[in-house]
Amino acid sequence: IISKLPAVGTTIFSQMSQLAASHDAINLSQGFPDFPADASLLANLARYSQAGFNQYAPMPGVMVLREQIAALTARCYQRQLCAAEEITVTSGATEALFVAIQMLVQPGDEVILFDPAYDSYAPAIQLAGGKSVHIRLDAPQYRVNWQQVAAAITARTRVIIVNSPHNPTGMVFSQADWLALEQLVCQHNLYCISDEVYEHMVFDAQPQRSAHCFAALAARSVIVSSFGKTFHVTGWKLGYAIAPAALTAEFRKIHQYVTFASFTPAQYAIAEMLQQHPEQVTNLGQFYQQKRDVFAQALADSRFQLLPCQGTYFQLVDYSAIAPTLSDSAFCQWLTIEHKVAAIPLSVFYQQGSDARIVRLCFAKQHATLHAAAERLCQL
Ligand code: PMP
Ligand code: GLN
Repeated sequence: IISKLPAVGTTIFSQMSQLAASHDAINLSQGFPDFPADASLLANLARYSQAGFNQYAPMPGVMVLREQIAALTARCYQRQLCAAEEITVTSGATEALFVAIQMLVQPGDEVILFDPAYDSYAPAIQLAGGKSVHIRLDAPQYRVNWQQVAAAITARTRVIIVNSPHNPTGMVFSQADWLALEQLVCQHNLYCISDEVYEHMVFDAQPQRSAHCFAALAARSVIVSSFGKTFHVTGWKLGYAIAPAALTAEFRKIHQYVTFASFTPAQYAIAEMLQQHPEQVTNLGQFYQQKRDVFAQALADSRFQLLPCQGTYFQLVDYSAIAPTLSDSAFCQWLTIEHKVAAIPLSVFYQQGSDARIVRLCFAKQHATLHAAAERLCQL
């Protein structure tokens, strides 16, 4: 077999979760909650399944869910959407990102990404025959240098992929970031894929901003989100893509041959949840801010240095006071095996690697889990 992804191995998330399980470590590596989803959401799923909603959903997603997504988008961002023509339900944000990339990237096209970057973008670009152009975010704030982006645009540049709130750094785009992005996208006739899976996890009373808020940008964007994150059900693999009708029509041509449609009863369950408990979404920022603060407080006496975290459920920590000579991958192995806390090395999110002494910890955990992990981390 000639590999289409010769440089790719098993994802770091699978690797670290397996290592955590085999060493009985507290797993703060792969991003997922260790607490149950809302009981009424689980009851909805059982009820719809028992009521017989178990056959193929419509290819773009069940209409009641698309209507609720439109209502949510209007509430959060004052953008009015056409549920019939601009919203497609997908099997997780992962599918939406993959399909958006296949749709927009022609062989030889360049796609601008920001390192550290979520791991699924570059392989999808490669499979589409495109070339990813990696620009580093400026540490330690991990902000975009937009002049550098402007300088990286060539005649072959087709797409910019952005992710705010940002995994793994917790950086959140400012108004100025969105405006700079909009200006570049419009000026150079590019497209934007905006990965907003952590959109509702924004802290410290910052306004929730999105590509939806910038009309000229939204007109050239595929905006992706995930119910796995929003409702604490990563295993349901339900997400969606929002794009103008012409883009959505092309998106669906591909989506229909990748998965055709997504898990039917979960679509109804989430639609009902969005309708009856919209406060679940609105409260998510506060919910995770509290976890961020509990974890930071518990780590206050450790030798880890915490980096700023404006959003998401990830905390970056610098371990250079503990093991200055260990690479981040070696540190994560050691931490998991010897101290029973699993983390993700930051360098895996860089195309060219990174020699920073930084790892990512997921705080989407019960307070008891955060305290237990912090107790171990404070001993280092
Ligand atoms: N983008 C980012 C930045 C993520 O962190 C994740 C979650 N792993 C995804 C996309 C994929 O989301 P989903 O689990 O809904 O496929
Ligand atoms: N998005 C999750 C993370 O960043 C993991 C997703 C996955 O396991 N593929 O940890």
